[in-house]
Amino acid sequence: MHAIRSNPPGKPVKPTVLITGGAGYIGSHVVLSLLDGGWPVVVLDNLCTGFRFAVPETAVFYEGDIADRELVTSIINDHDVDAIMHFAGSVVVPESVADPLKYYDNNTGKSRVLITAAVQSGVRHFVFSSTAAAYGIPESIPVSEAAPKRPINPYGWSKIMTEQMLQDTAKAHEMNYGILRYFNVAGADPRGRTGQSTKGATHLIKIAVEAALGKRPGVAVFGTNFDTGDGTGVRDYIHVSDLAQAHLLTLEAMMAEPLRNLTLNCGYGRGYSVLDVLNAVDRVSGMKVDRQFEEPRPGDPAALIADNSRILETIPWMPEYADLEVIVEHALAWERSLDARRKESNITRDTAIHSIAKD
Ligand code: UDP
Repeated sequence: MHAIRSNPPGKPVKPTVLITGGAGYIGSHVVLSLLDGGWPVVVLDNLCTGFRFAVPETAVFYEGDIADRELVTSIINDHDVDAIMHFAGSVVVPESVADPLKYYDNNTGKSRVLITAAVQSGVRHFVFSSTAAAYGIPESIPVSEAAPKRPINPYGWSKIMTEQMLQDTAKAHEMNYGILRYFNVAGADPRGRTGQSTKGATHLIKIAVEAALGKRPGVAVFGTNFDTGDGTGVRDYIHVSDLAQAHLLTLEAMMAEPLRNLTLNCGYGRGYSVLDVLNAVDRVSGMKVDRQFEEPRPGDPAALIADNSRILETIPWMPEYADLEVIVEHALAWERSLDARRKESNITRDTAIHSIAKD
């Protein structure tokens, strides 16, 4: 089986990128950005939380685990993979507190296996999906990449331990890394091809658009006495398609200078409160989302905003959707289309997956 080369004839063929977790929320947007940019893409996803329908047929798809070293090695060799973008992992902070070893296994232990396969097969570039949870409760806002890494939950630790593995690996082997630390990712593909599809999501914008569509009774506002403009928590919401574009540009920068390693905050450098978000959802949906005011969640910082000067100086990233209402509009449109998608995917799921011979 060969990767599908979507470059027009006569143009140089771009190297194949393996995307782990490419059927998940952020991964599937990155798959689209790369395919739109003419890159050959191979996806590896165990469909534990991802959806087959989120990956277009123009990407080669494998259902399997990143810790299956034999499988990863054969994918790298069969498709001549030169870069890996690694999204597969677990992302629910409270779950990481209740079940830390699951997080150290899924996000740290399995990443070690993947990185090992990458190094041994000669993959030269590795882009890693990291998180602003690395900073814990920052001393000052906006928070830069140089701020101390002091996670306050196992999720954050599981991610920075993988960051550390990459830093050490890049010193010892011919592989460079791009570590992208995401702030609050939201929205959906503007063309409606993928979005946040996970059931039981806990993130504010997803919850708020579900409420606007009557899928839940309202939204609990966690904390009203923070030291912020209106007392509710402030976050730096970044549109998932802008984030996807940041991955592509980071990879291009890493390929242009193979000794260069990059650690970049991904955010717009401005914050919105919970009430700003709910008001935007009301405006965009034409509904009035019900608010229940509750105690803050343990460990929630009052405000988390990226200092994004490094990413703006380092790669030619020009965000297209840095507008809260646009983010909400796309999240809402995706939420509306989701039930039909889910039904469709149950029908096609089993027929659309490449079978993997392992004997
Ligand atoms: N939040 C809220 N109600 C919810 C979910 C989140 O008030 O149902 C608040 C949360 O306290 C934080 C902000 O919304 O101030 C963003 O939370 P989210 O869980 O989306 O992301 P986090 O910043 O925790 O990673």
